[in-house]
Amino acid sequence: MRIAVFNNPGDKSTTVATDLIQKLKQNQFVIDNDDPEIVITVGGDGTLLAAFHHYEKQLNRIRFVGVHTGHLGFYTDWRDFELDDLVASLLQDTGQQISYPLLDVGVRFQNEAARTHYLALNESTFKRVSATLVADVYIRGEHFESFRGDGLCLSTPTGSTAYNKSVGGAVLHPRLEALQLAEMASLNNRVFRTLGSPLVIAPSEWIDIYPDRSAGDYVLQVDQFLLRKSPLEEIRYRIADQRIAFARYRHMHFWQRVGDAFIGTDDL
Ligand code: NAP
Repeated sequence: MRIAVFNNPGDKSTTVATDLIQKLKQNQFVIDNDDPEIVITVGGDGTLLAAFHHYEKQLNRIRFVGVHTGHLGFYTDWRDFELDDLVASLLQDTGQQISYPLLDVGVRFQNEAARTHYLALNESTFKRVSATLVADVYIRGEHFESFRGDGLCLSTPTGSTAYNKSVGGAVLHPRLEALQLAEMASLNNRVFRTLGSPLVIAPSEWIDIYPDRSAGDYVLQVDQFLLRKSPLEEIRYRIADQRIAFARYRHMHFWQRVGDAFIGTDDL
């Protein structure tokens, strides 16, 4: 089996990754960072996010495994002191996997006919920081609301525990096929009105955002990347055709993970 090890550059993650590579080689695994079947990330959820984008053109033949060098994360099933257990699980791999939806961000820039597509694992945010963002929001081709406020956050179920949660979005179970739209500081008064709460759309639906054309200073983010390009005409958000697959060797109860991360319940 061909395995890539992708770590964040910190001292601890580098040490753990070096140790892991040695154990993998001792067990006859092939280290192949270019064309791997399994990508093991060592770091945190942010490291898995970085690995996802590094390998996003190869998603159909890769399964991810996350090792966390701190607390347990949302994309990471293993802790750094469990490398021997992880290698033992890899030795018994039968191709088991679980996959989750991704966000397709289709951007039409001004003076361009075709959309440019980006993939997000967590979310895409669309903001204006210098002044109020003014944008029309359409759901499935129908005008839904005229938004005024700081911005909008479109997230996947697995991304719902990240930025989305910070702006008051709901935590979604990752097996749901859905996309969530959460508002950031919307203006709601007698003149301007938005839904004022997060909403979740079904797989057959999509969301289009048409920003006010007179302003061009928008901030469009896809996961950790800031897109800097010419002013844009429209963004279409929908569930992507691609999915992310994880090699899942042991069951982790999602709500226990949520409790542990945000409330401080049982130690995992
Ligand atoms: P970062 O600022 O270095 O880290 C963002 C934090 O979010 C880290 O603690 C990371 O966990 C955590 N995280 C990432 N994905 C998560 C998930 N699906 N569920 C729960 N927590 C998650 O940024 P980065 O590492 O480049 O990651 C970019 C992400 O940061 C974006 O996708 C966005 O979700 C998040 N972000 C959040 C806010 C906010 O909440 N106000 C603002 C900007 C960006 P680890 O420590 O395990 O890596």
